[in-house]
Amino acid sequence: MRRNRNVKIVATLGPASSTPEQIKRLYETGVDVFRINMSHGDQNDAKARHTAVRQVEAEVGRPIAILADLQGPKLRIGVFAPNAEGAEEVELQNGQAFRMDLDPTPGGPTRVNLPHPEILSALKPGANLLVNDGKIRLRVTAATPEAADTVVETGGVISNRKGVNVPDVLLPLAALSSKDKSDLEFMCGLGVDWIGLSFVQRAGDVTEASELVVGRAAIMSKIEKPAAVTNIDEILEASDGIMVARGDLGVELPISSIPPIQKRLVRLSRNAGKPVVVATQMLESMIEAPTPTRAEVTDVANAIYEGADAVMLSAESAVGSFGPQAVETMDLVARSVENDANYRRIIDAARTPAEARVPDAITAAAREVAETLELKAICCFTHSGATVQRMARERPVVPIMAMTPFQTTARKLTIVWGAHCVVTEHLNRFKEAVWSSLEHAEAAEFADHGDRIAVVAGVPFNVAGTTNILRIAVIGEPRLATEGGD
Ligand code: PEP
Repeated sequence: MRRNRNVKIVATLGPASSTPEQIKRLYETGVDVFRINMSHGDQNDAKARHTAVRQVEAEVGRPIAILADLQGPKLRIGVFAPNAEGAEEVELQNGQAFRMDLDPTPGGPTRVNLPHPEILSALKPGANLLVNDGKIRLRVTAATPEAADTVVETGGVISNRKGVNVPDVLLPLAALSSKDKSDLEFMCGLGVDWIGLSFVQRAGDVTEASELVVGRAAIMSKIEKPAAVTNIDEILEASDGIMVARGDLGVELPISSIPPIQKRLVRLSRNAGKPVVVATQMLESMIEAPTPTRAEVTDVANAIYEGADAVMLSAESAVGSFGPQAVETMDLVARSVENDANYRRIIDAARTPAEARVPDAITAAAREVAETLELKAICCFTHSGATVQRMARERPVVPIMAMTPFQTTARKLTIVWGAHCVVTEHLNRFKEAVWSSLEHAEAAEFADHGDRIAVVAGVPFNVAGTTNILRIAVIGEPRLATEGGD
């Protein structure tokens, strides 16, 4: 099955999408990558979802990526004693005093536990504490290592274990909590393609995770902290891809700063040749409604016009009643945008010159040749996936076929703009790569008898990191046994 678009769709799994039947329907409607959010459910739930995706992958015979998204060092308050109505919550009024402290006993109208001594120690008067997705804002008036006194700036109801964001402070938090480390090991043990890192603040957070992942998955850093935006160049360098995690980003920074940050992150990531996912509230109203709002459709379209590799569904597919319809909406919007001549102009205008390295020069040349000759596909042979990512960085008009003998590489690349991933037989010679490209291009209906394709590979063949050859081949051409002895 081939998609008729280049941008990819990531869908989060949850109670509304956990059976193989539900997952298969989502795949058939257009999902390329399934996200397992480790903030919800336990490891047994994650394992069941992982098994279901792999079952669907085997049924459909196409590589599918799994992104295991770690919860990260999310701060949470403790619990409240039941109020007069028996509810474990309090309503904070604007201007009232409220304390967060290390006392683990249930809280009430004037205080609650914040079981993070390192955070209390890092707070200074004037810092903001945002509770429950930023709905409640407290300003610190005094802080000691045991407690923070605050004044309520924006009141409302808070209840047990609500999340706390501290946007103004570079938090002295370990990149991975003990739960994250356990989840990382568990999911890498099952075999996932991407690990999502939440609340990354600096490149060191990514390298710390890489040391635990040890090459078993690619690392996607979620950009959702002001510090991550500040340190984006080093974080991007250390990561395999990034996610514009607009949910927490919109809590930690003024919501109006999301559009320029999103544009900047998408541009930086494309220039670096690393996939970038735009996430959160893309089709939020479709959690409960079968059709999206005009604004949501335009938001998805804008992310695609900006050049994102993938757009993501969160609650829409995890708990919503209209997951397949949300996927279908993204698919339709993507095709509409990609067929717009203006999209091509924007994408071409944003292309930066190829780096002065052989694989970059070859992939840049492949795009030019393929577009000049109106070839039907560019078949790119890859071990690690790097050549395909350099090819995708060019954003060619001509479809990219990512050819690899490694299933793990094929799965990982399913998130990359335009990559139609094919697990090839094990090939020994360049001429076999040409023959394989011709067969697969025809079988996947990219090309017909007499059509021409480009083949990008490295000679000597099968040596990683040697991309150095560009060959034009014709479907149906005679097989020359003497060609390309390597
Ligand atoms: C986000 O904050 O936008 C995000 C994708 O992360 P999570 O769903 O884990 O909150």
